[in-house]
Amino acid sequence: MSHVLVLNSGSSSIKYQLLDMGEGAPVASGVVERIGEGQSILTHKVPGNTPGTPARKHERREACPDHEAGLKAVLDAFSTIGPDLDGIELAAVGHRVVHGGARFGGAVLVDDQVERDIEELAPLAPLHNPANLAGIQGARKAFPNVPQVAVFDTAFHQTLPPAAYTYAVPAHWRTEHKVRRYGFHGTSHAYVSRRAAEILGRDVADTNVIVLHLGNGASATAIQGGRSVETSMGLTPLEGLVMGTRSGDVDPSLHAYLVRNAGMSAAEVDTALNKQSGVLALAGANDMREVWRMVDEGDADAKLAVDVYCHRLRKYIGAYYAALGRVDALVFTAGVGENDERVRAGAVAGLERLGLTIDPAKNENLERGTEQAISPDGAEIPVMVIPTNEELEIAVQSLDLLNR
Ligand code: AMP
Repeated sequence: MSHVLVLNSGSSSIKYQLLDMGEGAPVASGVVERIGEGQSILTHKVPGNTPGTPARKHERREACPDHEAGLKAVLDAFSTIGPDLDGIELAAVGHRVVHGGARFGGAVLVDDQVERDIEELAPLAPLHNPANLAGIQGARKAFPNVPQVAVFDTAFHQTLPPAAYTYAVPAHWRTEHKVRRYGFHGTSHAYVSRRAAEILGRDVADTNVIVLHLGNGASATAIQGGRSVETSMGLTPLEGLVMGTRSGDVDPSLHAYLVRNAGMSAAEVDTALNKQSGVLALAGANDMREVWRMVDEGDADAKLAVDVYCHRLRKYIGAYYAALGRVDALVFTAGVGENDERVRAGAVAGLERLGLTIDPAKNENLERGTEQAISPDGAEIPVMVIPTNEELEIAVQSLDLLNR
């Protein structure tokens, strides 16, 4: 059976997963960290031989000055630790790429033109696209005979109607500078919304879902018949929900106000809104486990943080309910969505009139890593927890593209 290698290349790291597409499961995974920073660290994990046995973890240190060298180290780990890539059919290398602009509405086979396009879109994702591109270029050299597929975080949201993606701003901003809503986390929203329809035994084309992807970054998406029609992240991932370190929605005049009155530059405001805001700014920690620990100790700032976080979630659920007209499922996913029962309860508190309720026992006794309904039996709208699996979705989209 064929395999797909999925790569997520950051500015100084490459995360990878080799998936057996018969099982839809990883047969190896790992990460190279500190690329270009002298001594790099490669961690390579191979699952135990039999179910239930722990994964074997191997750590190595070597100099990887760039992504090409990082990928050579990964290849070396496969040949010395296993599984041996020569012994398997590697159908594709699937790359996570953050920004596909308005150009990419789905996965594409990488060629020189696609590389140029990803580079041209860099102003929209200056931290991510150049790193993603470096990973692609390294992989094309490391695996010259294997098809390389780019899967974009923005692609799933290219179905947004103009009424949802257009900002009411001057025309040349929209044309010359490509200012519009793009949305992110698309791979996760696509996977989770499709799984929701499958679990409910419904036709995807006739299922409307609200997905709350709540990780360190967080976004909400309204999906109508398998198509994203509204999403909370915008031109950049800053807009929308309150996140670990990002503010989410603020008054657009906040930048100008702080530049005029606080002696800050626009860049400083931008950095602070992305890295020093959100739950971190309100509670002093961005990990929800830590925030709830403080709440339990009576910390008023932490309590305000979770109140603001859940209030924003309820606002978006209401808005997306209106955008969809009919909702067939509400789904929680990612680190907070999958693990934090108090956030889930807070997000739907008071929304009974919308048909949204949670069974406290189901919500609190959720088995980690499983797909489960947390609404009462026979609830008007199923509320579910579905663990996201972006690597599998990238691998599936890569194979689909090649088989088309
Ligand atoms: P992600 O970006 O999807 O990996 O999510 C990471 C975030 O999930 C962390 O920053 C935590 O806030 C949150 N998280 C992970 N595990 C838990 C847990 N058991 N309870 C509450 N929050 C959690």
